[in-house]
Amino acid sequence: PPPAPAPARPRVLALANQKGGVGKTTTAINLGTALAAIGEKVLVVDLDPQGNASTGLGIDRRARQRSTYDILVGDASFRETIMETAVPGLHVAPATLDLSGLELEIASARDRAFRLRNALQGLAEDDAAARYSYVLVDCPPALSLLTVNAMAASDAILVPLQCEFFALEGLSQLMKTVDQVRTGLNPNLVIHGIVLTMYDGRNNLSEQVVQDVRAFMGDKVYDTIIPRNVRISEAPSYGKPALLYDLKCAGSQAYLKLASEVIQRERAARAAA
Ligand code: ADP
Ligand code: MG
Repeated sequence: PPPAPAPARPRVLALANQKGGVGKTTTAINLGTALAAIGEKVLVVDLDPQGNASTGLGIDRRARQRSTYDILVGDASFRETIMETAVPGLHVAPATLDLSGLELEIASARDRAFRLRNALQGLAEDDAAARYSYVLVDCPPALSLLTVNAMAASDAILVPLQCEFFALEGLSQLMKTVDQVRTGLNPNLVIHGIVLTMYDGRNNLSEQVVQDVRAFMGDKVYDTIIPRNVRISEAPSYGKPALLYDLKCAGSQAYLKLASEVIQRERAARAAA
């Protein structure tokens, strides 16, 4: 028989922006769902102590027996922590509030920035574990040690930007952190793309922001723009991704488009390598 293929390493993408409320968690949930819907196997890693990605994927707080906190302190593996969701092919490593104390607990550990990377390495080596094609890491709204762990473990970063005044504010700080991570921790880290979220077609400001961000960031900005859509904001209270709650709504359709754009960029990057 032919030799078994080397275990495929998943692509690890971090949803990062130190601003809160820009659509990181919404994008982790719905891009993850859209990728799974087109046949990818996806793991969402919830790295925000608020645990909103876990909740939005239907994981009850009481059901979170193990969490990313346990993984990062070294008390549990991904395999022991991962839970299934209602979406076939989409799994989640849930977060709990414990995670807010992690930074202090591991502050003096030498490997403090590599806890996530090492745990993901363990997942890749774990034969019994499912082989994911994508890992999406939902970061907290801060350039904290948690976000640094995400960046150190990732191939690329996806930056959600809300279509509002001050959209670009904070972006240079984020880029500075990416540069620091590149120099010190993860030389291969790249910006996968910038996704404009909560676009309001009735609002001139939204259009102005789109033009400004495109002028400033060029083709790093995805063609797909996520509209402001009430179905997207309603879905989490039902513990469902928008794509399960209302597949036809404009928001769900936009996330499906984003998923195919992400895959196209992945293919282009592989072809260029
Ligand atoms: P972050 O994770 O960056 O803090 P969230 O994804 O939690 O941001 O989004 C902040 C709020 O905006 C949430 O209440 C979410 O439901 C809502 N929201 C996000 N994207 C959209 C959208 N496209 N249309 C309408 N509401 C949205
Ligand atoms: Mg969030």
